[in-house]
Amino acid sequence: MKERYADIIVDITHEKLDRPFQYRIPEKFRDVLEIGMRVLVPFGNGNKLTEGYCVGISETCSFDPTRMKDIQGLVQKGVSVEDKLMELAKWIRRNYGSTMIQALKTVLPVKQTAKQLEHRTICAAMTREELISLLGEAERKKNQVARARLLREMISQERIPYELVTSKLNVSASTINSLVKTGAIRVESSPDYRNPVKLTDREEKRAVLSPEQEKIVRDFLRDYDGGIRACYLIHGITGSGKTEVYMRLIEEVVNRGKQAIVLIPEIALTYQTLLRFYRRFGDRVSVMNSTLSPGEKYDQCERARRGEIDVIIGPRSALFTPFPNIGIIVMDEEHESSYKSEGTPKYHARETALEVARIHGASVVLGSATPSLEAYFRAKQGDYKLFRLDRRLTGGSLPTVHVVDLREELSAGNRSIFSRKLQELLADRLNKGQQSMLFLNRRGYASFLSCRSCGHVMKCPHCDVSLSEHTDGRLWCHYCGYFEPKPTKCPECGSKYILGFKAGTQQIEEKLKEMFPGVRTLRMDGDTTRTKDSYEKILTAFANEEADVLIGTQMIVKGHDFPKVTLVGVIAADLSLSAASDYRAGERTFQLLTQAVGRAGRGILPGEAVIQTYQPEHYAIQCAAAQDYESFYEEEILYRDLGGYPPCAHMLAVQVFSREEEAGLSLAKRLADVVKSLEQGDMASAQRITVLGPAKASVGKVNDIFRHVFYVKAGEYERLIDVKDVLEERWKQETDKNLMLQFDFDPMNLL
Ligand code: ADP
Ligand code: ZN
Ligand code: ZN
Repeated sequence: MKERYADIIVDITHEKLDRPFQYRIPEKFRDVLEIGMRVLVPFGNGNKLTEGYCVGISETCSFDPTRMKDIQGLVQKGVSVEDKLMELAKWIRRNYGSTMIQALKTVLPVKQTAKQLEHRTICAAMTREELISLLGEAERKKNQVARARLLREMISQERIPYELVTSKLNVSASTINSLVKTGAIRVESSPDYRNPVKLTDREEKRAVLSPEQEKIVRDFLRDYDGGIRACYLIHGITGSGKTEVYMRLIEEVVNRGKQAIVLIPEIALTYQTLLRFYRRFGDRVSVMNSTLSPGEKYDQCERARRGEIDVIIGPRSALFTPFPNIGIIVMDEEHESSYKSEGTPKYHARETALEVARIHGASVVLGSATPSLEAYFRAKQGDYKLFRLDRRLTGGSLPTVHVVDLREELSAGNRSIFSRKLQELLADRLNKGQQSMLFLNRRGYASFLSCRSCGHVMKCPHCDVSLSEHTDGRLWCHYCGYFEPKPTKCPECGSKYILGFKAGTQQIEEKLKEMFPGVRTLRMDGDTTRTKDSYEKILTAFANEEADVLIGTQMIVKGHDFPKVTLVGVIAADLSLSAASDYRAGERTFQLLTQAVGRAGRGILPGEAVIQTYQPEHYAIQCAAAQDYESFYEEEILYRDLGGYPPCAHMLAVQVFSREEEAGLSLAKRLADVVKSLEQGDMASAQRITVLGPAKASVGKVNDIFRHVFYVKAGEYERLIDVKDVLEERWKQETDKNLMLQFDFDPMNLL
């Protein structure tokens, strides 16, 4: 019988994961040992028996077999944090496709050299009255906006963490230093963690929960104390009191001796939100975001492991905080696509949160104003418990929405990117000194062709997705590989105005300035937000009314609240329908439009929104204009069901990366053939698989690496895991090191 060898990582929290040690698997363990199991091995010069984890099994020996040591024993699975993380890594590897090492790197914090970190806090050093008088001075000066902002905060907060001030409040170190020089504030640093926020008025006014909020808390706790762990979905518009409910639930669970993870998309981790959590949970809460260095992240993990904190807030990766005993996982804005990992393994935080909860015996609470089709589908099926919060607790009413048909604008002779309605309302707002926002969804905007006269979009005859214009002058389908020459006139109406949509945010800004000389604008897009804190800077400037109009891409519809905005204009609503025309295009468009429209009228003044579109009859646009989620869901789920798309069925994208185009395509073809050979005629329909492609990916080449992709569809997710396992086995036979393989289950975009 052939020998088998195991790759063992000794002490997963300290050793470098890249260097596992190989051991021989003795015969008695051969059938029982699996990847992820804990083992005992002789280690080091003294051959001291040490615990390790198995991360790989193979039949090839990587060094002199005579010097290879044997595995000595298997260890029972325990309840340590490491065992839980190992179990999670195993699950991620199985469900998303990666090596065990890649999965482990995803869930384990990277150990850094132990450098003592300083924790700085900004503290008020003057009396409240003195601070108020300083604030008065700063407010009278034009160039002391940041100084005034910090003073205002110091009047209501005696202590604020330094990082929160610099990263979220957008106050520079030099502004802080100048206030230190005046003697208004002090910067304290200490190697220990201290209560980062202290309220001047310590009594935090706790809102009395509304009956709807109260019901959620009551139902959750009845389950929780009755030993029932479940997943809850709160469907509630922004401002309906979801965060208040999360905090109440977390308090209750923490009081029962458990820990809480709060996932919030990075873009929505605003100063106001973080401060609310700091106020409620004091030094028992911590934040994990991308501005932290790896050392600081590791530090947060250590605090969690040692039981120094109960609550962690952060994006996707905060899910892997090594808490000993998690009781609740909250996922706000559950529908956000940033919850899907971009690198291998491409895990989704929602599904992974459910697995973390299963391992720990925790409950999961999802919240969104526009739930993902996945979550709502499962709520409707009874897998999740659904709650609704319909009232905006902060006042303000839903805006009046005008849908403008851009084809009519053209036939009326208006070639401007602003419709007549939008021009009229913009002028009105500028007159009244109120603020407006202009939103352009630019996702891949130039790559598809549409007719300006009739709205016709060039689509693949086989796949119902829009064709992409390439530099070779052809239109390509990225699902099946179909192509055709670029047309010179519209096949529907003969118009010669069949074009890609070329307007960018910069062009909108220029046109706006031509139309309204003297208008003060701010622009937010990929170009203006390159540096780390420019995003917050632009938003703060707009909130401080330093501009009349904010122009931007999808970034501007998320996060911040602007009470002075009374008009929102969506320049071309159907760009997201046609441009990234994959199966989620309708959902994405509905979400973006609902969020965009909801930006107007947050304050006392009523708001209006203008949606400009070539497809005014499309249900995603109609439902968003009416702010009607339920009707949107009914239409969309029908389409998903008919097309065999998630959540009604499942889809696996297999992507091949290669240095040479031919080699990549040929591997993709071979792998697709392997999958096709798995199709059997007599299978039950849920078991049946369909293969689409291979084709060149929509971004066919990045950094000289070619990308090819094919899609596998099946009724059941498990069936796709089988397919992935078969492909992984097949992949092991490939020897060309210039090729790479990546799996993407239920992809968020067309690849
Ligand atoms: P969401 O998370 O749904 O956007 P929040 O929890 O942030 O909603 O609530 C919106 C606003 O309403 C906040 O300013 C919050 O303090 C306030 N609020 C929440 N619940 C209540 C309540 N029961 N009574 C009064 N105000 C509330
Ligand atoms: Zn046409
Ligand atoms: Zn096609």
